[in-house]
Amino acid sequence: MKDKHFETQSIRAQLPRSGNNEHSVPLYLTSSFVLDSAEDMRAAFAEETDPFIYSRYSNPNNNEFVEKICLLEGAETGIATASGMAAIYTTLAALLSAGDHVISCSSVFGATHTIFNKYFPKWNISYSYFDAGSPETIETLVKPNTKILYLETPTNPAIEVIDLELVGEIARRNNLILIVDNCFATPYLQQPIHFGADLVIHSATKYIDGQGRVLGGVVVGRQDLVREIYLFGRITGPSLSPFNAWVLSKSLETLALRMDRHCENALYIAQKLETHPALEFVKYPFLPSHPHYPIAKKQMKAGGGIITFSVKGGYEGGKKLMDNLKMIRISPNLGDSRTIATHPASSTHCKLSEKERLDVGILPGLVRISVGLENKEDILADILQALG
Ligand SMILES: *Cc1c(COP(=O)(O)O)cnc(C)c1O
Repeated sequence: MKDKHFETQSIRAQLPRSGNNEHSVPLYLTSSFVLDSAEDMRAAFAEETDPFIYSRYSNPNNNEFVEKICLLEGAETGIATASGMAAIYTTLAALLSAGDHVISCSSVFGATHTIFNKYFPKWNISYSYFDAGSPETIETLVKPNTKILYLETPTNPAIEVIDLELVGEIARRNNLILIVDNCFATPYLQQPIHFGADLVIHSATKYIDGQGRVLGGVVVGRQDLVREIYLFGRITGPSLSPFNAWVLSKSLETLALRMDRHCENALYIAQKLETHPALEFVKYPFLPSHPHYPIAKKQMKAGGGIITFSVKGGYEGGKKLMDNLKMIRISPNLGDSRTIATHPASSTHCKLSEKERLDVGILPGLVRISVGLENKEDILADILQALG
């Protein structure tokens, strides 16, 4: 499968057929598996062999999902988890020890920030943030105990784009484990491992499912690191349910098609809104006005499905726009076939101080649109009527 194209891999990489000769992969709703002999059981527990034993360890549906993501990301191996946060937490907890230091971009997913901010101190792990707009400052933050360099690109919700080639070089030079949360781009738009990432994490809840049905997460990358994460995960139990793995593996069959449409719709809407008099600015990686447009062009196949803009009228203006929308719904989620609007200052980022919000690019009137798969004219018309 390695020599095939993305679309073919995402459709054709599947479990070997069972004795029933099914065409579509069946769902293995079984908590455990039987072994043929006491000797087979001994060898499995001695980790000399790796058969299916128990679904907290592995399950055929989970394996298929992980194998597809590995093919699509160009990764050696991986594990699937119950949610994106389970993937992030399990990775950090497996790889870090008390006394270690992490460098991360300051605009990370809210719950990831809370792990750093609230729980790291409890485990005596420290962290420093760099500004996504100036990754060249990362090296000034490196300490002898720095172990991990962590980032998201494009960032949420400010849609900054971080130069993966540059951070890949910085990580190598300083012997840091580079971890990229690739949730916004998906492997269809960007493959961080090709730029030197050691591990790639996804909230599969977003574009990988793409239809707002299930939670899931996955971490893929270097064999030695994934092995540590796997051993920690099979003891602590963040495993993905086989049902969700089955859904997610099926969803991958349409990822390329869906992402093409998400990106086409988002670019169209960003272009149409760019000169709107009610907006201060529109940000989208593939608009030439984006400050990181050349970097986005270099590392992404298309600009993704998320646009943000700042409404004149600040905090109240942002909330008013949300309430004026008729078809587009208010929800904190993203990466769904339905277009979703979020006003970060009053919702996902309300716990941050005004200064902390501004530091990560969240202006009071900033609105994030996760552009869905509806007809682009209908999406645009709803936003235009809401802007008044
Ligand atoms: C949603 C999200 C997560 C968390 O994923 P869950 O599946 O909700 O646990 C992590 N990172 C990013 C960038 C996200 O958007």
